[in-house]
Amino acid sequence: MRRYALLVALLCTAVLTAFGQHKLRPDAFPPRVSGKTVFVKSGDVATSAEQMAGWNKYPSYGLYVEMMRQWESNFPSLCRIDTIGTSINGRLLLSAELTANPTDTSLPEFFYSSSIHGDELTGYVMLLRLIDTLLLGYGSNSQYTQLLRTTRICINPLANPDGTYAAGDDDISLAMRFNADYCDLNRNFPNPFVAAKEALQPENEAMIAYVSRHRFRLSANLHDGSEVMNYPWDSFTSAQLSHPDATWWQAVCKRFVDTARRYYAQQFIDVCDDGYIAGGDWYVITGGRQDYMNYYHHCLELTMEISAVKTPAASQLPNYWYRLQHALVNYIAEVHSLPTSAVPPAPSVAASSRFAYPNPAISMFTLSAPLAMGSWLCTLDGRKVRFFPQGAQTIDVAELPAGVYLLSDGNGQALKLQVLKP
Ligand SMILES: [Zn+2]
Repeated sequence: MRRYALLVALLCTAVLTAFGQHKLRPDAFPPRVSGKTVFVKSGDVATSAEQMAGWNKYPSYGLYVEMMRQWESNFPSLCRIDTIGTSINGRLLLSAELTANPTDTSLPEFFYSSSIHGDELTGYVMLLRLIDTLLLGYGSNSQYTQLLRTTRICINPLANPDGTYAAGDDDISLAMRFNADYCDLNRNFPNPFVAAKEALQPENEAMIAYVSRHRFRLSANLHDGSEVMNYPWDSFTSAQLSHPDATWWQAVCKRFVDTARRYYAQQFIDVCDDGYIAGGDWYVITGGRQDYMNYYHHCLELTMEISAVKTPAASQLPNYWYRLQHALVNYIAEVHSLPTSAVPPAPSVAASSRFAYPNPAISMFTLSAPLAMGSWLCTLDGRKVRFFPQGAQTIDVAELPAGVYLLSDGNGQALKLQVLKP
């Protein structure tokens, strides 16, 4: 008995040591520790629009596709359904493009995507209902009308249909995290620092082509299993490298959390009291879509963990909508007040730009960085390469060997600089 108690104590110590001050992340894999998995009942899946009318069901795959097509035909001036690609098993990856001004190419582009982990399905239904709500509210709800007139809003409710419908098109009882190749798609995106362990999966290849066709400036990837707003970076702790717009992220996350808590005070409390955290401070991952979007596309993307239960009983879905709908809509509006660093980069970066990591597709450039104080250019492992005295400096990256550098201004602020060679 005593030996048993000692074993328990040792295990507890190991767990506490391994996970530090933050609570376990049920979304993490491994370990997979969610104690709140709810086994969906067969009646939780709707196969017809009538069954879906109360938004208290998960749609079958066929109904999902039908709903998307129906919105396009019911609202032809507001909604266009784009095919991002197809999954391994041939299911469609769809995106609803919503705007009242489809020909205006100057509109800022926003992107919501959910359920890249196929068993995290709250966000799937939230985004479907969001599409419906925005379209039905156009012309009567002033906020929705204004958003649709001034924004191109793209919504991909289901990024991993093979994982969700692993048991069949009308069945989510075996919904799984992975795609049909048993790959975790949110560990499979290109990462500038760590080589991928597995080949790029077809779902992600299609997603990369899709986001490359757009100029998304703000986006979110919805997950479940915890409740927390997880802002970049995921690849680093904030002590290693904070996002250039960390302060802005914290303000945006706080607005989201505060809005949700107005409707349910217990929302976003299971990881930290604030309800938001820099991803790497929770735990570091590489290959996630969030860092890929921020790094390669200059799109401000964060990871929204919106429900502690990955697949709640379908009857609970209206409650989640009640809590989250206003925060989800307001987050779209944030695309109109982005920090200055989120301005799309030009092939030759202007002196005032804070961006120091170009999209490789745009090719190499010369960075002119006005520096507030003396700065060191360092390699990622901390070796100092060159000192720049205070004042405006031109850094010709063509003189530097290819690689990734940090430009640290001695104030704890670091810009990341990637030097590419043809
Ligand atoms: Zn997830």
